[in-house]
Amino acid sequence: MVSSDAVPPGAVVDVVDERGKFLGTALYSSSSQIAIRMISPGKVEDLPGLVRKRIQAAIAYREQVLRETDAYRVVFKAMDSEPLRQTVLSELGDRLKPAAIVERVDPRVRELEQLPARASSLALGEKSNTVFSMNGVRFHFDALLGQKTGAFLDQRENYAAAQRYARGEALDVFCYQGGFSLHLAQQCSKVSGVDSSRSALEVAERNAALNGHEVEWIEANAFDLLRDYADAGRQYDTIVLDPPAFARSKRNLETALRGYKELNLRALKMLRPGGVLITCSCSYHVSQADFAQMLSEAAGDLRKPLRVVERRGQSPDHPVLLGVPETAYLKCFVVS
Ligand code: SAH
Repeated sequence: MVSSDAVPPGAVVDVVDERGKFLGTALYSSSSQIAIRMISPGKVEDLPGLVRKRIQAAIAYREQVLRETDAYRVVFKAMDSEPLRQTVLSELGDRLKPAAIVERVDPRVRELEQLPARASSLALGEKSNTVFSMNGVRFHFDALLGQKTGAFLDQRENYAAAQRYARGEALDVFCYQGGFSLHLAQQCSKVSGVDSSRSALEVAERNAALNGHEVEWIEANAFDLLRDYADAGRQYDTIVLDPPAFARSKRNLETALRGYKELNLRALKMLRPGGVLITCSCSYHVSQADFAQMLSEAAGDLRKPLRVVERRGQSPDHPVLLGVPETAYLKCFVVS
């Protein structure tokens, strides 16, 4: 590393070890805890050219590994600067010929990175809304509304798996705009979706209508509802748990695991004999082993033997890189 005083934010820097041996090229952040982000093991002379090639490779990879969808994450972008932004916009335009490009801004991250504030807006075209499909299920999408980017594409293959195992009466807890619910509705006699966000449930209802399904949407705090339903002796054949990330950092891992255990214990309690629980965690800090241990404890408390039907991860458009453990974050267990 060099002395950082002379280096402007976003600069392309050579990274060397303490003996001066060249390790690769990185983008430098003057303000983030992540001071350098490696972009290449070699020298980078032409950053815009590299970005264009990376976008082309990213699209080619996804075209190869994804099926049954017209919505995927194309690429994960580490840093912003006006020249890079222009390059990305132009390459996406050239390759994908989109009707519109919407720029969704996370103001908190821009502040952390000391980047100038920018509003979310259309960078190309006139329309921010459309309909996309995954596994034959259709979803309304408005890129300027909703949480995150408005859809949880990383669960795409897990929706299909859940649909394969689903039957009877189903409960989808933390349902957002109905990703799991609408897949379950293809198989189940009755589906109830629970979320605390009214606006998410309004889109979920429009999605149900779009696919010709009837789903019961319940606006509630999932912890309260699961406690009440479990106490009342309610039973289901299929239950999905897909809560938001409880462990935002390593420090609250214990608290997070207690939260996961409470939810999973109640869900297992409500599962009919032979029923299936599809249970997820998107907290990177909760490892697959932690998650399995938590589930095992919940089942143990109920003296319920539990089979792991499948241990699943995230969709391949959110690739897991060997050697970068941080890239594997989603756990999805199917248990029975
Ligand atoms: N399963 C969804 C994604 C869930 S994201 C899908 O596949 O699309 C997490 C959801 O949990 C969000 O919709 C958020 O509104 C909801 N949520 C967060 N805390 C909650 C709580 N305490 N009770 C109920 N819902 C909650």
